[in-house]
Amino acid sequence: MTSGSPAPGRLTVLSGPSGVGKGSVVAVLRERHPHVWLSVSVTTRRPRPGERDGVEYHFVDQAEFDRLVETGELLEHDAHLGASYGTPRRPVEEQLTTGVPVLLEIDMEGARQVRATMPDAQLVFLAPPTFDELARRLVGRGTEDPAKVRVRLDRARIEMAAEDQFDVVIVNDDVERAADALVALMGISSTPEQ
Ligand code: 5GP
Repeated sequence: MTSGSPAPGRLTVLSGPSGVGKGSVVAVLRERHPHVWLSVSVTTRRPRPGERDGVEYHFVDQAEFDRLVETGELLEHDAHLGASYGTPRRPVEEQLTTGVPVLLEIDMEGARQVRATMPDAQLVFLAPPTFDELARRLVGRGTEDPAKVRVRLDRARIEMAAEDQFDVVIVNDDVERAADALVALMGISSTPEQ
């Protein structure tokens, strides 16, 4: 080994169509691979039951979110169902310069922004086993009116078509398998170093 700065860590972005289960894969990854460094996004949406500020998200108001955008403190950002989401830039850059592999779980527009600013990032597309399966999840989510469901399905079709803009595809047919595959792609061992 030569001395000097560590080789930079690699940035991996997990994205995919809305409703495909990115959040579930990351929740399982947190349990099975707690040593993986996962970026904590800021969001203006309200915490769901069980979510802790600073763990799943940093929960902020719109004024604070706008300030973060204006001062360039977000690596990427997007809006989703009326709420804003973004990735704080500094913690990600700090980890990467010290050689730590970093994982972001963000929507597809966010993934495009990361591709534009960090071309070396590894973009992972989480795909449903079939389009029908994704449609079932989107329709089965609640009691929304048919017009809203149609909007979701149209969006899902567009998002599925973007799969070839990604470097790797993981099919979410089993959440634990998908989480393990993601960790393997990040090039980290599946157990913490002793
Ligand atoms: P949820 O509110 O269900 O946790 O997340 C809603 C959507 O926002 C998901 O598609 C999730 O991937 C996306 N998301 C979460 N954090 C970020 C972020 O920092 N940036 C972007 N662009 N999307 C995010």
